[in-house]
Amino acid sequence: MPGERWAGYVPTTASLPRPRLPRTTRRALARAARHGLRLARDLVALVLPVACAGCGTLDVAWCTTCRSRLGGLPWRCEERAGRLDALDGRPPVPVWTLGDNVGPVRDAIVAWKDGGRLDLSRALVGAVARAAQHVAPGVPRSRAGPLLVVAVPSTAAARRRRGRWLVDDLARGAVRGLRSAGVDARRAPVLRRRGGRDQAGLGARARARNLVGQVRVARAAGRALAGRDVLLVDDVLTTGASVAASSAAVRAAGGVVVACLTLASTPGPGVRPHVAVTGWRRSSGSWSAGRAAIGPTPDRGVSVGV
Ligand SMILES: [Zn+2]
Repeated sequence: MPGERWAGYVPTTASLPRPRLPRTTRRALARAARHGLRLARDLVALVLPVACAGCGTLDVAWCTTCRSRLGGLPWRCEERAGRLDALDGRPPVPVWTLGDNVGPVRDAIVAWKDGGRLDLSRALVGAVARAAQHVAPGVPRSRAGPLLVVAVPSTAAARRRRGRWLVDDLARGAVRGLRSAGVDARRAPVLRRRGGRDQAGLGARARARNLVGQVRVARAAGRALAGRDVLLVDDVLTTGASVAASSAAVRAAGGVVVACLTLASTPGPGVRPHVAVTGWRRSSGSWSAGRAAIGPTPDRGVSVGV
């Protein structure tokens, strides 16, 4: 019988060649999918009520009270980050920041970085610009030429997820602030993360281990850092591991990190919160302190990393 030969035959596609799209097409599809996700997120944001990313007050994205927590004068916080002390007798590089990374400030930065609240960018970049303007006269310079403003790198995965390199947006703000103070500053987005996971949720030792050998200068940057002064910019200073790894990469490329600027600083256990200096008191001719002092708030188990 002619049909006997095929008895028990089960058609399968295993033997057929698998269609494989060219790499450029696959990349284009992945980009389109990410773009679609961002679009969907933006549309959802349009129909949902807005709430302050710091305290939850309705109908405002970033309320005046929360804004004031990052609205004071920048202050030095490098002594909080043990990783910045090279133990060679030299003082650690100065790190200026605007607020304690606790409570509403921390919630807002987490929402900005990982909650899709890119509507905060303008306020946060503006805060860094103001801070840079204030610190400009105090940035120690070791060499002539323009000051390069370099963002501490995030992982490629984090940048894709967020749709932007948010820390580099802060660097743009820093350049704006420095220039408005008369400093010849240029943005140089030259640092890259080789791999490793996000720093979020890691302890001090794990943060440092996670970054060993993971920060490098982009090949395309060539010798852009050679013989230059560098101001590093990051969102949050926690243990200092990210800043230390970035400084090492800058040094290896012939540059010198002369200062850092961050939005916020995480006070370690037992460290007293900083009392912000918040406004110019015309009557006494001095800065007033205390209006935006932030006390410790209950830990919600959220931490922010690179
Ligand atoms: Zn608020």
